[in-house]
Amino acid sequence: MEKIKVISPIVEIDGDEMTRIMWAMLKEKLLLPYLDMQLEYYDLHVKHRDDTDDQVTIDAAEAIKRHKVGVKCATITPNADRVTEYDLKQQWKSPNATIRAMLDGTVFRAPILVNNVKPAVTSWKKPIVIGRHAYGDVYKNQEHRVDGPGKAELVFTPEGGEPVRLTIQDFGGPGIIQGIHNTDESIYSFARACFTYSLDRKIDCWFSTKDTISKTYDAHFRDVFQEVFDNEFKDKFEAAGLQYFFTLIDDAVARVMKDEGGFLWACKNYDGDVMSDMLASAFGSLAMMTSVLVSPHGYFEYEAAHGTVQRHYYKHQAGEKTSTNSMALIFAWTGALTKRAELDNTPEVADFAAKLEQSALETIEAGVMTGDMARIAEPKPSGHVNTEQFLDAIAERLQSKL
Ligand code: NAP
Ligand code: MG
Repeated sequence: MEKIKVISPIVEIDGDEMTRIMWAMLKEKLLLPYLDMQLEYYDLHVKHRDDTDDQVTIDAAEAIKRHKVGVKCATITPNADRVTEYDLKQQWKSPNATIRAMLDGTVFRAPILVNNVKPAVTSWKKPIVIGRHAYGDVYKNQEHRVDGPGKAELVFTPEGGEPVRLTIQDFGGPGIIQGIHNTDESIYSFARACFTYSLDRKIDCWFSTKDTISKTYDAHFRDVFQEVFDNEFKDKFEAAGLQYFFTLIDDAVARVMKDEGGFLWACKNYDGDVMSDMLASAFGSLAMMTSVLVSPHGYFEYEAAHGTVQRHYYKHQAGEKTSTNSMALIFAWTGALTKRAELDNTPEVADFAAKLEQSALETIEAGVMTGDMARIAEPKPSGHVNTEQFLDAIAERLQSKL
């Protein structure tokens, strides 16, 4: 068979531990035999980030700016234990945070549904997609430990103007303070990214903040969303029969538990971080959640929502077979290929990606699955396959479709 040509480069960002092992396996078994791709490779293995003083992470983000489409493996965010384990120079910043700060944008996380796994929340019939704002708030903060009595103030000095001072707290004893921010530019693009995604996928859009308590900060997010909706999206939503719905975050959480799903839930950075893990596990497994960073500048970065699956990696290193689920990594690649196909206008590449996704879904629905899925599937499969057997089973189905 002649290989399918992917015209423009894809930025490939390799990572750590078990996901690095699976990354190589899935390329070898599911992609390289069928595709003629130009991959611009960046190795974000934690040791290589350390060797380059994290320059490689910045280079990878710059490459996505050049080529528009990237696909990323999971990476270790170093903590004190990792510094010892890998003999690192320092606790490097999270690569995801570095890349998001450079590309800006919104992270959309959608569950991968199969017909033999029922969501833990029985009312959910359709996917709930999280749109997580990927800039600012507590992820780009200043924090200070207050040792004793004193006055904490918020000071803003306008260019060429007089400072504005607000008292945060008159401390009578020790405590803590934190300063956070966001920018109008980023909030407007967050709103546009969410409304555009809703229209693309033909699903309603919900947005929630704590605007009753945070009457300036969170209320500003609410007002920006309403303004962008009214001025740019209202007619398009009406024509498509879709709704935009704003509510207090507490109310949104309560409603989500009773709704049948099938909507985008736009969340501020922290809310999206927390809620996406809850949704992923309630929909089945962390390995059944896709993730894409959509930048307002037209850059797309696809990844798995889960981490490096450290515990499985230690088993793998000890020579044991693991049963690690590669679905989210496969869907990261198919997402990147589908976007590349759209930008390059190469339907044969999109067709390949669709066949690969179908092969992966059908494999699980036929009862061939890894341990995480076997525990929750109905009917219960007679057993589960290991990491490599799962990829082989998908490869076999894919082969028969091509
Ligand atoms: P994790 O790698 O997501 O794994 C947590 C647990 O979830 C695993 O121990 C496993 O449960 C289950 N799991 C996750 N993915 C799975 C898969 N594909 N197949 C089967 N089971 C899966 O999170 P973590 O252990 O908290 O973090 C490990 C490392 O990943 C950390 O160094 C962290 O910094 C990094 N991380 C990276 C990213 C990213 O790059 N996007 C995101 C999060 C975390 P069982 O052990 O019970 O089988
Ligand atoms: Mg998280």
